Amino acid sequence: MWSNKYMKKILCLILIIFVCFILTSCGKKEVESRYDKIIKRDYLIAGVKTDSIPFGFINNETQQPDGFDIDVVKYIAQDILGSDRKIEFVSVTPENRIEKLTSGEVDIIAATMSATPQRQYLIDVSEPYFIAGQTALVKQDSDIYTFADLKTKTIIVILGTTAEKNIRRIIPMAKIIGYTNYTEAFDAFLNGKGDAISTDNTILSGFLSEHPEYRMLKNKISKEPYVIGIRQPDENEDDKLKRNIDIIITRMHKDGTLRQLKEKWNLK
Ligand code: GLU
Repeated sequence: MWSNKYMKKILCLILIIFVCFILTSCGKKEVESRYDKIIKRDYLIAGVKTDSIPFGFINNETQQPDGFDIDVVKYIAQDILGSDRKIEFVSVTPENRIEKLTSGEVDIIAATMSATPQRQYLIDVSEPYFIAGQTALVKQDSDIYTFADLKTKTIIVILGTTAEKNIRRIIPMAKIIGYTNYTEAFDAFLNGKGDAISTDNTILSGFLSEHPEYRMLKNKISKEPYVIGIRQPDENEDDKLKRNIDIIITRMHKDGTLRQLKEKWNLK
């Protein structure tokens, strides 16, 4: 038989463990996840581009956002909420998209955004859903054929893009003019403000399809994996939204949806 003294010690130990358990579970109060908030709200708030044909732009006929990124968001909404109409679109630019996400104004961003280590320090990102590459546009009759030829030229970039960073790093001698959005940047380019405009081949192709008087440089100087941006969960918040979006993107690769979207939007 156990002695009374021994029993008391065991009871004391059980009591201490119980108190510790209560205290730690009180401190770790689960925060409602972004995913659960979306389900409760019953619509998704997505930050998208409105000036980047064919990924995110305003359709002239419907006056609604349209493009590859918009189709990806619709697929996600269909999966999470059972309808591709349960979406509120918010227009974002490369310069403000991360801020709109971290402030909680939007749930996700699908805005031709490449994954980079610096961005992944601030936000979570999904699996890539498209791979683009940086290049540049020049006039058909220009004597510029490579990025080396741009060394002493004036280059238009969009502020906050990987393209801006790469140009500053690779050709620091070049004169750079930056704009916050593509509408202003392409207008400036059309008005002869720069010898070249540099960003992803995808967005430049969209512009080129309407402006055959320009041509694209043959070489790409980067790989741009487009990802969905997701806010990093708060302490004690579940990362259910990121986990679900990764599953959805993986399925979109497997079931041929992304291949069909490439065909639909005429992308290689
Ligand atoms: N994909 C590049 C980036 O994330 C440039 C295109 C853009 O976002 O406008 O910065």
